[in-house]
Amino acid sequence: MRIVCAEQARVEVELVGGLLGCPSCWEVLAPWGHARERVLRCRSGDRRLRPRRARCRGCLGTHVLLPEIALSRRQDEVAVIGVAIEASVAGEGCRRIAGRLGVPADTVRGWLRRFGERAELIRAHFMRCAVWLDPELGPVVPAGSVIADALEAVAVAGRAWVLRFGSGDPWRIASRLSGGALLLQHEFPRDRRVVS
Ligand SMILES: [Zn+2]
Repeated sequence: MRIVCAEQARVEVELVGGLLGCPSCWEVLAPWGHARERVLRCRSGDRRLRPRRARCRGCLGTHVLLPEIALSRRQDEVAVIGVAIEASVAGEGCRRIAGRLGVPADTVRGWLRRFGERAELIRAHFMRCAVWLDPELGPVVPAGSVIADALEAVAVAGRAWVLRFGSGDPWRIASRLSGGALLLQHEFPRDRRVVS
C-alpha cells in the first residue's frame, strides 16, 4: 500500500517516470496493472476508484496506490472520518455525528474506537513527522487527553506539511503521512522519506 496524490493523471506520470518509491524499500515502483474497483463514500457522493497497482523493482513486492482521499480498509473518505474524530474530541456524541454525516453510528463508533486505541501511537508518529517536516517546530502544549493530543499531533504535522509544501487538506495529509494506516492495527512507516 502506498498513498498517492488524488489526481490519477499525475500518478500515472509519476509512476511511468519512475518517481514513486516503494513503501517497503524505497526502490523505484513500476506499473503493475490495477487493483479491484471499490466504492469510496465521499461527502460529494459515492466515488468509484480503481487504484493503480505497482511492483517494486527492488524487493518485487506489489503495492496498491491508494489515493490520499482514502485510508486503507475504510470505505469512507478520510475527510469524513476526520470530521467525526474532530467532533468527538470536541465533545459531540457518536449518534449525533453519525446523523450529521449520514453514516451508520456503528461505523463512526468503529473509527473512534480505533483512533482511541491507537492514540498514543498516532501522537508519537505524527509528532515525529512534524519534526521531520519542520525541524524548528516549537513545543506542543498538551491538549488535555491522550485522544486530544493525538488529534493535535495530526494537526501540527498537517501545518508543518503545508509550511513546507504549500496548501493541502489536513486529513489527506494525514492519510499520506500514515501510509494509509491511520486506522489500521499495524505500525506506522518508520522511514523519514514518508514526509518527502
Ligand atoms: Zn520494494
